[in-house]
Amino acid sequence: MKLTVAIDGPAGAGKSTIAKLVGKKFNLVYINTGAMYRAVTIIALRNGITAENISKLCNMIDNLEMHFEDDNIIVNGEDLSNEIITPEISGKVSSYAAVLEVRERLVNLQKKIAENYSVVMDGRDIGTVVLKNADFKFYLTALPEKRAERRYKELIDKGINAEYKNILSDIIKRDYADSHREIDPLTKAVDAIEIDSSTMNIKEVVDLMAEYIYRR
Ligand code: C5P
Repeated sequence: MKLTVAIDGPAGAGKSTIAKLVGKKFNLVYINTGAMYRAVTIIALRNGITAENISKLCNMIDNLEMHFEDDNIIVNGEDLSNEIITPEISGKVSSYAAVLEVRERLVNLQKKIAENYSVVMDGRDIGTVVLKNADFKFYLTALPEKRAERRYKELIDKGINAEYKNILSDIIKRDYADSHREIDPLTKAVDAIEIDSSTMNIKEVVDLMAEYIYRR
């Protein structure tokens, strides 16, 4: 039987960590849609294409081959997993993600993947746009300070130079941009279950989501 799980929420809420574990638990393919927007940002920056240059951006995306291998994002044969999480990309991704033509292309790709597999997908518009009919929709959030703390630790653990106060201001800026953009802004789907993980650990969040899934 096919199962689809959508997890949306603001930056650094732990969506990807949780989605990966839920995916393992229920044997679902995990699709990190934020990684897709980040990968587009990397390739655009490498080619000097700004978010305003729509025709070049479209042409660039139309010539990308993007897929996931063991949760790693591979673009035109290159593994971009380490580069996507850098603060430079976090600071620039929202302006590319706000472009209608970029969203149309990535949303199509995401929908296509979900047609063929049981998936857990995380992002900003999964429950509202990409998987409107998902079997389960979760909206995962936490206090901005908590989210910044977790992101900071994640980067330091990976050996990436970071400063807590910069991460916090990036998160606040990105939340604002993502929830105020014109096209498909971040918003909780009416039928999504909201989980505030400010005082919960990873296992508690996964167990809670699993409980909802088992219950039905
Ligand atoms: O989830 P993550 O923080 O990696 O996402 C990076 C950025 O990509 C977000 O801040 C947002 O601008 C964009 N994004 C989006 N829609 C999604 C996933 C991510 O607009 N479904």
